[in-house]
Amino acid sequence: MKYTILLLASFFLLSCHDSPKISKEKNPPKTPKFGIVIHGGAGVIKKENMTDSLQKAYEEKLEEAISVGHKILEDGGTALEAVQKTINVMENSPLFNSGKGAVLNADGIAELDASVMDGKTKNAGAISGVQHIKNPIDLAYKVMNESDHVMLSASGAEEFAKLHDIEFVENSYFITENRKKALESSKAKEQGVSANEFYLSNEKYGTVGCAALDQDGNLAAGTSTGGMTNKKFGRIGDSPIIGAGTYANNKTCAISATGHGEFFIRNVVAHDISAMMEYQGISLEQAAKRVIQQKLTDLGGTGGIVGIDHKGRVVMEFNTPGMFRATKNVKGETTIKMYKD
Ligand code: ASP
Repeated sequence: MKYTILLLASFFLLSCHDSPKISKEKNPPKTPKFGIVIHGGAGVIKKENMTDSLQKAYEEKLEEAISVGHKILEDGGTALEAVQKTINVMENSPLFNSGKGAVLNADGIAELDASVMDGKTKNAGAISGVQHIKNPIDLAYKVMNESDHVMLSASGAEEFAKLHDIEFVENSYFITENRKKALESSKAKEQGVSANEFYLSNEKYGTVGCAALDQDGNLAAGTSTGGMTNKKFGRIGDSPIIGAGTYANNKTCAISATGHGEFFIRNVVAHDISAMMEYQGISLEQAAKRVIQQKLTDLGGTGGIVGIDHKGRVVMEFNTPGMFRATKNVKGETTIKMYKD
C-alpha cells in the first residue's frame, strides 16, 4: 500500500513537471504542407537573346503568377483554384503563348487550347481551337464542372461558353506584333525565303502551366496555350489532351507540359510520368528525368514539364536550352529560372 501511494505520488509529480515538454515533443506544431510550380514555356531561351528589361519583365510576371497561387494555398484554398488563378495571370500577359500574346495559326488567327485535371476525383476538362475566349483555362474548368464531357472544340466550345458566363473578346485582343513577326518568319522559312531567325527560335513555344498541392493533400494541374506558330488544318497539340499535356492523380503527381506537342502526344508524357511512379514505385524526379531526357529525347521531341508529387516535391525538367519556370515553397521562398542551370 505504502509503495503504491509512493509510486502514484512520484508519477503524479513527474507527469506534472514533464508533461508540457513531453506533449510538445510528441505533437510538434504541424507545418502546413502545400506547394506550387509553374512554367511559361520551354524553347530556345538563352541569355544572349534576352535583354535585361525583357528578363526582368518575365521574372516579375512569373513572380506575380506564382504568388497568386501560393497565397490561395497558404489560405487553405484548393489546388484547383490555385492552378486556375495562377494561369489567369499568365494568360492575361502578352509575354506568354496563351490568352493575350498567343501565337498565330497560318491564317493569322489566335486559336487557343487549355485543360485542367483534378487529382482527387480524376475529373478533367479541356477545350481546343477557341478564338474568342479571354481565359481559356476558365472554360476548361466549366467543361470539367458543368458538362458531361471532357473535351469540347472550336465553335461547340464557344456555344457552351455562352451558356456559362464566360468572358468573350475579339480575336484581335490576343494578337501582338511579335507574334505577327513570328508568323511572317515561319512562312518565309516554309517558302525557302530568308527568315528572321530571332523570331523563329524565340517565338516558338511559350505555353503556360501550373501544378499544385493543397493543404488537404489534393493535387491539380492545368495548361493553356495558343499552340504552335503557323499551325494549319485545325491542328491541336498536347496542351488540351489529358495524359499528354496535363495530368493529375492524388496517388502520384500533377504535371503540366510544354514543347513540341506532337511528341508529347505520342509519348503521353504527363500520364507516363504518373504511371511510372505508380507502377514502378520510382520518385517524381526519376520518372520525369526518364520521360523527358530519354523517352521524349529519343523520339526527337523537345520541351519540358513542371510537376509536384503528393508530398509537395517539385520537378522542373526540360531538354531545351531553357524553360520559364518558378516555384514557391511553404516558407514562401521563391525560385525563378529561365535558362539551363
Ligand atoms: N505544347 C504546345 C503545343 O504543341 C506548344 C507549347 O508548349 O508552347 O501546342
